[in-house]
Amino acid sequence: MAPEITASVEHGRTGHGGSPHPRVGVVKFASCDGCQLTILDLEDRLLEITEHFEIIDFPEASSSRSSGPFDVLFIEGSVSTPDHLRRIGELRKQTRVLATIGACATSGGIQALRNWADHDAYRSAVYPRPEFVESLARSTPISEHVPVDFELRGCPISPDQLVELLTALATGRRPQLRDEAVCMECKRRGVVCVMSAQGMPCLGQVTQTGCGAICPRMGRGCYGCFGPREQANAAGLARYLQASGDRSAEDVGQLFAGFTAYAEPFRSTITDLGGTRGARRSGGGGGGAAGRGGPGAAGRASYLPAKPRMEGFDDDGH
Ligand code: SF4
Ligand code: SF4
Ligand code: SF4
Repeated sequence: MAPEITASVEHGRTGHGGSPHPRVGVVKFASCDGCQLTILDLEDRLLEITEHFEIIDFPEASSSRSSGPFDVLFIEGSVSTPDHLRRIGELRKQTRVLATIGACATSGGIQALRNWADHDAYRSAVYPRPEFVESLARSTPISEHVPVDFELRGCPISPDQLVELLTALATGRRPQLRDEAVCMECKRRGVVCVMSAQGMPCLGQVTQTGCGAICPRMGRGCYGCFGPREQANAAGLARYLQASGDRSAEDVGQLFAGFTAYAEPFRSTITDLGGTRGARRSGGGGGGAAGRGGPGAAGRASYLPAKPRMEGFDDDGH
């Protein structure tokens, strides 16, 4: 999943087109815009960032547009339409450093749940005139099509990891993005493990950190929105979840069938357990219910406690 670090923008380096600062673009493919909003939510820090970068294309924030070339390009969203397929190659040619932001761009997103299902049947079930909807049978991460230099995980991305990447790009150093399990964050923060204390399913052992273990701190299991960490033993965790909680293969497969379902090894674990529940229910014959309710929908496989706990949060939930 994690790409080799192959490029950086050096401090003081003249950007493309003679610009005194690296020229930055932010573009979207199939996505909800939530990760772009995380950039805008940086507020004061965003003003400091614009002192070091020239933002030349960011439709979510500005009406001025550019088709490049880019020193740094952030891409949100998955490749989901024939137009995306065409654009991604063109954008890569125009870009020095390409960074994907969020679960959609790095893993295919929640929309990749259709990859286990009959795409045409889903499309017909959802849209009254499906012939007008141009979509690919599979939703895929950007790295499946072009080389990616950096990835920011999460749904949405972590603002702190975003600032770290921007700072590293501005100063020409390697970003410090930890590849460790969410469990490590629980230990550092003194969070009581919801899996060992309550028997609640949790994907924290196989999920990359970056969120501050926000779900266990809320008293619920991690559903893997930052995607699998390097060498994650998802199959082993799936076996444990089946054996320890009297859960069916379908229940356990559904635990992995979330925002990063299409990222290996979550992908093969779901397939080995029989595919997604939505695809099975549709029987390949329609029913746009894949992923409805999301991970943790009602049943024995729910990540949610009966009564949420606010461990590590103050009275305002911060
Ligand atoms: S990763 Fe999540 S927040 Fe970001 S664009 Fe995709 S769905 Fe939206
Ligand atoms: S709650 Fe989840 S993430 Fe935290 S220590 Fe337990 S298994 Fe790991
Ligand atoms: S605990 Fe897991 S599901 Fe929750 S925000 Fe972190 S990575 Fe995402």
